[in-house]
Amino acid sequence: MKRYIQGEGRNQVTLLPECLDDYIGEDNPVRVVDAFVDELNLIELGFSGMSPAVTGRPGYHPSTLLKIYIYGYLNRIQSSRRLEREAERNVELMWLTERLKPDFKTIADFRRDNGKGIRNVCRRFVSMCRQLNLFTQAIVAVDGSKFKAVNNRDKNFTPHKLEQRMKQIDESIERYMNALDSADRAQATETEATAERLKEKLAKLKDHMQCLKETEVLLQQQPDKQLSLTDPDARSMATSGRGTGMVGYNVQAAVDTQNHLIVAHEVTNVGHDRTQLSNMALKSREALGCEALEVIADRGYYKGPEILACEQAGITAFVPRTMTSNNRALGRYDKRDFIYIAQDNEYQCPAGERLTYHGFSIEDGMKLNAYWTTAGCQRCTRKELCTTGKERRVRRWEHEDVLDAMQNRLDNNPEKMKQRRCTVEHVFGTLKFRMGSAHFLMKTLEHVSTEMSLHVLAYNLRRVMNILGISEMLKMMRVIAA
Ligand code: SF4
Repeated sequence: MKRYIQGEGRNQVTLLPECLDDYIGEDNPVRVVDAFVDELNLIELGFSGMSPAVTGRPGYHPSTLLKIYIYGYLNRIQSSRRLEREAERNVELMWLTERLKPDFKTIADFRRDNGKGIRNVCRRFVSMCRQLNLFTQAIVAVDGSKFKAVNNRDKNFTPHKLEQRMKQIDESIERYMNALDSADRAQATETEATAERLKEKLAKLKDHMQCLKETEVLLQQQPDKQLSLTDPDARSMATSGRGTGMVGYNVQAAVDTQNHLIVAHEVTNVGHDRTQLSNMALKSREALGCEALEVIADRGYYKGPEILACEQAGITAFVPRTMTSNNRALGRYDKRDFIYIAQDNEYQCPAGERLTYHGFSIEDGMKLNAYWTTAGCQRCTRKELCTTGKERRVRRWEHEDVLDAMQNRLDNNPEKMKQRRCTVEHVFGTLKFRMGSAHFLMKTLEHVSTEMSLHVLAYNLRRVMNILGISEMLKMMRVIAA
């Protein structure tokens, strides 16, 4: 051992006590957490426990517990029990809390009871980034991703899933009944044990069937005909991979294209993105504090009224068109082959015929105008390339000019889709990597939203630390606070 660097004796008493601050370097991220939380006005942000009771045992200051959580989410320690352990052994956490060691229940209760405050802290950090001039372009990319809830797939029921499970149990019961019949007929002593085992299995299956019947009654009472037993707000959602659906939440995020910071986010339990565009765009605009904003999203967000809402709010949207018709795949003309003549309010078809306006219908609250030609299609030589009906009808939404203008913008800026991909997709990858295999630890939409805010805050904090450097960030934070 002599030729190796020697450690200090464990029982040796140092002459002068070492200072805890000596263990925390000037460029340690924990200093940013400390400075950020100290600058916050926790009463304004909506934290409870800001006026301590006159009597009773004093509690922990909310800022101490908030620091513990921000530190925990920055370092992939989300569980309150693990944070309790870390507060006892982790020098950075000891420094941050000034050696206070709240128990896990106190830590967990703080996160559960201060959802509003924690979500506001996340917003406050975004507004601080704005003051640090980190958003200068006012362009955001919006996307959504599915995150796992604390709810096993077997504890989630839809009418179809329930029917399948009941069918499987019926089949198993029948199989065991047949096996029992065979055992009865054999009358041999060794089959007695088998018969006993089969009877036990049958009893279990019948109990399970009874549970499923009770679940069926509960399921019928659900407004969306879906029931999750562990986390009542979690919903079964399809993911992009085939056969990889999960029970979870749909997290929406708007990410700025310049520094890839999450400007706005929202947790929903709706399995699609179609109704999220204007909501996320308006939230982003508010967070960025700008008038004009560009928002880029994938075709999952293509929905006329959402794009119109953006347009009316002065937000420029870039969303690629979704073609729902199967005509092109069947070798027939689709709507893109028909040219709209705005001044005449008519369409020109590939054969040069004019399709005139014949009335409208209302679908999903959208007024759809209908166009066709009365005589042209009957004598048309291209009819089999166009329609199988009497004549080809084209429908146009009353605000379709907004969609056409957006498509023109996209055609003139084809790089926008690449920009979207490069901006927002890696953010979800990073968030999920840092969350680990179980994404959320809390249950119900409200608490999951709080947890997501902590993840987003940790992501943004780390990102700004990487962009500015820790000492520069601390310096700028002091300037803002002054
Ligand atoms: S079938 Fe009718 S709409 Fe289609 S190309 Fe011929 S004339 Fe035009």
